Amino acid sequence: MEHAVAATPAWAELLYLVAGVLFILSLRGLSSPESSQRGNQYGMVGMAIAVVTTLIVHPVGLPLIIAAIAIGGSIGWFIAQKIKMTAMPELVAGFHSLVGLAAVLVGASAFLNPDAFGIVDGVTGLIHPVSRIELGLGVAIGAITFSGSIIAFLKLSGRMSGSPILLPGRHVINLGLLAGIIGLIAYFVTDQAEWIFWTVMVLAFIIGFLLIVPIGGADMPVVISMLNSYSGWAAAAMGFTLQNTAMIITGALVGSSGAILSYIMCKAMNRSFISVIAGGFGAESDAGGAKAGGVAKAYKAGSAEDAAFIMKNAESVIIIPGYGMAVSQAQHALREMGDLLRKEGVSVKYAIHPVAGRMPGHMNVLLAEANVPYDEVFELEDINGEFAQADVAFVIGANDVTNPAAKTDKTSPIYGMPVLDVEKAKTVLFIKRSMGGVGYAGVDNEVFYMDNTMMLLADAKKMVENIVKALAH
Ligand code: NDP
Repeated sequence: MEHAVAATPAWAELLYLVAGVLFILSLRGLSSPESSQRGNQYGMVGMAIAVVTTLIVHPVGLPLIIAAIAIGGSIGWFIAQKIKMTAMPELVAGFHSLVGLAAVLVGASAFLNPDAFGIVDGVTGLIHPVSRIELGLGVAIGAITFSGSIIAFLKLSGRMSGSPILLPGRHVINLGLLAGIIGLIAYFVTDQAEWIFWTVMVLAFIIGFLLIVPIGGADMPVVISMLNSYSGWAAAAMGFTLQNTAMIITGALVGSSGAILSYIMCKAMNRSFISVIAGGFGAESDAGGAKAGGVAKAYKAGSAEDAAFIMKNAESVIIIPGYGMAVSQAQHALREMGDLLRKEGVSVKYAIHPVAGRMPGHMNVLLAEANVPYDEVFELEDINGEFAQADVAFVIGANDVTNPAAKTDKTSPIYGMPVLDVEKAKTVLFIKRSMGGVGYAGVDNEVFYMDNTMMLLADAKKMVENIVKALAH
């Protein structure tokens, strides 16, 4: 294959390799909260090396590239300053859509001006057949990532209903479209016709939309990590087109780590990957579980002083944070409460459900921000056995992840998801703002009405601040 662009010099390949190693170290660092900052630093250095090397090897249009980096960087900086922690999941989905769009645009540029990308076969004068496969795959995965992430963004930000939208015969339509895309990419290798390229792109946009629209309820976490994975594969495919080793390595790392995360999330929610992709989860949520707002059931309500009294006299308290803690930003007050209780000789532990909040690791990030010691934070499987011996389960803004219906009620939309066994604690203190509010899956929670539960109805931060005051007195 002849290349119109010069081959990458050996020193640059070496630097790309160094960047690749740094990315791997970065992922390794990100696998535990203690090492995550170091992991992020490795990633930043690796990316700086990759970007600077690429700019030196291809100094084409440098002022334009620098201007684009400045504009993009300022927009990113502005968004990072403005974004609320609770809007993080939709922001992540939005960013994935940009990665997908970038892959589509690079693919389209390479197709329209193959000479500039060095992908023209010297003998035939056409795009090299292998590059045509890379182009087709890159554009298809990029377009699926783009439209899928836009739908995920709209659903997560509440601009579109989070419940599944089920088209009749959707599996047949999706499979047909997928077969069409694969068939057209194969045909594209034999015939470099423009219509094939654009049709692949349009079909991929449509399938991305159709794949995510039917996914609802508690399956969104998997969707986010799945789209993350797709964005990586799209970048890797474009790395081949651009003949850039760093991009291939980075894309493959993002693609595979996103796939592993999706697998872990599926396992955490006891769902098969195929059933998530097929969509429709949560469709029966109207039938499942008692919806809040039905017949009023009796419950016990308490005050901050009651909660402080109960916890002060407890030996062990397990705190279960959820989405509501993020909404009210109660993590700092919560850490203060934990510190005060520990001073009273109470054992304090935090129980983190893998899908608590609205994005993977949501609770870990918030607790780390409040400097909660990592050795007090436990994953579901490590702490679930301890609720039966605990004096208090302190649920703060969590709901679905504590719902026993997931274990018992086959009609519940969250049936099968492993949950934290809070109901087994001697006393459950449950913070939420009102009895009417429901969790993400939209179902009632029988823990509210149990004899050993005391509802603390208030904004999470205010309630914890008042408990801190009561404990201090
Ligand atoms: P839930 O969404 O089940 O419940 C949140 C609770 O917080 C509600 O009971 C709500 O009640 C309460 N709440 C909201 N705001 C406040 C506030 N300011 N002060 C006090 N309470 C408040 O949260 P969980 O974390 O238990 O469960 C996560 C759910 O989100 C799961 O269903 C999961 O599948 C889904 N999900 C998770 C993602 C992830 O990656 N982690 C991504 C997308 C979805 P009230 O309104 O009455 O206050």
